[in-house]
Amino acid sequence: MAPVQKTSRRNFIRNASLGIGSLALSPTLIQLAAAKPAKKLGIALVGLGYYSGGQLAPALQQTQHCYLAGIVTGTPSKAVDWAKKYNIQQKNIYNYQNFDEIAKNPDIDIVYVVLPVSMHKEYTIRAAQAGKHVICEKPMALNAADCKDMIAACKKANRLLSIGYRLHFEPHTIELMRLGQKQVYGKVKSIDTGNGFTYGGDPNAWRLKKALAGGGGLMDMGIYSIQGSRYTLGQEPIRVKATQEKTKPDLFKEVDETVFWELQFPGGQKVTGKSSYNHDWGYLKAEAEKGNFELGPAFGYGGIDGKVNGSQMQFPQINQQAAQMDDFALCVTQNKQSRVPGEEGLKDMLVVDAIYRSLDSGKWEKIG
Ligand code: NAD
Repeated sequence: MAPVQKTSRRNFIRNASLGIGSLALSPTLIQLAAAKPAKKLGIALVGLGYYSGGQLAPALQQTQHCYLAGIVTGTPSKAVDWAKKYNIQQKNIYNYQNFDEIAKNPDIDIVYVVLPVSMHKEYTIRAAQAGKHVICEKPMALNAADCKDMIAACKKANRLLSIGYRLHFEPHTIELMRLGQKQVYGKVKSIDTGNGFTYGGDPNAWRLKKALAGGGGLMDMGIYSIQGSRYTLGQEPIRVKATQEKTKPDLFKEVDETVFWELQFPGGQKVTGKSSYNHDWGYLKAEAEKGNFELGPAFGYGGIDGKVNGSQMQFPQINQQAAQMDDFALCVTQNKQSRVPGEEGLKDMLVVDAIYRSLDSGKWEKIG
């Protein structure tokens, strides 16, 4: 069993009894108390690379409803370092060979897949079959067909699946969604968005191998711009036309470097996007009938900023990963679908698949 967190259990009992005692006065308090798990749920991170080590493990030191209970790694020295640094019990450390034994471990409630993209499907399905709820990093899989298999496997195992879309918990982004979807300044007429960075890493990294990454800047960075367009409008795109540019063919032999696209939505809005491994972009600008709003930086975790009709947005910076994982822990406790379920990852991958088809055909391609 995962350790019972004394303070949260004490609070839970206290809140629950307070709620019962003041039934007529405070129904909200009862709901709050019921929503709070009695113990922190245990998360196991699978793949201890940059994102797990630099963001997720530190965020799990700040979470209220879940904690870093276990790890899965193929590198024995990392197992030693992480166990020491994060006080992880030996019985909660797995490698890729004995991973399925995690089924027998009640300390682990949630498996978080933080591996190269080509491994997302296998480890999501194996985790669900081991009886664990799953968070899978973006992009969800190599293609939409794999996303569908992952969703089906989690449904069959009766486990919840969520994608690591941290921005859905970020205050500026939530405001952007509200402004766009609620048509606060009238209908959004156009969106322009781009996301990318100048790749200066290992030329042999998995990110540059098609079999492991599925693609380049589009899969890794463009997915944020695609999703940004979808969540600003609250609609699903119908067709897409894309072009690409390659200035470093030796480095980006197997994957896309810079991709430009136009998305057609049912409302007829003009929506353009771009992604890159060779440009530092990170913005989303929306023009509505009676105003405009934008985020920039729009997609990172080093601070999000934005403007509405030229005035700076005033929202706090939060730890996006902590908020995202805490929300999923509550979803698991309440057996409630996450606001970023597998279906959300699938919708983005349907667009990505169509963009790659358009790059091949040179034509508009239907999405889905
Ligand atoms: P990384 O290369 O730093 O880490 C990948 C980990 O997988 C390493 O620990 C590596 O040892 C392990 N691994 C196991 N089998 C492997 C294999 N066959 N080949 C290569 N590595 C293997 O990558 P990362 O930057 O941590 O990215 C991991 C995932 O997290 C990706 O899906 C990425 O898109 C996602 N990510 C998300 C965000 C975000 O903001 N949500 C940020 C960064 C990365």
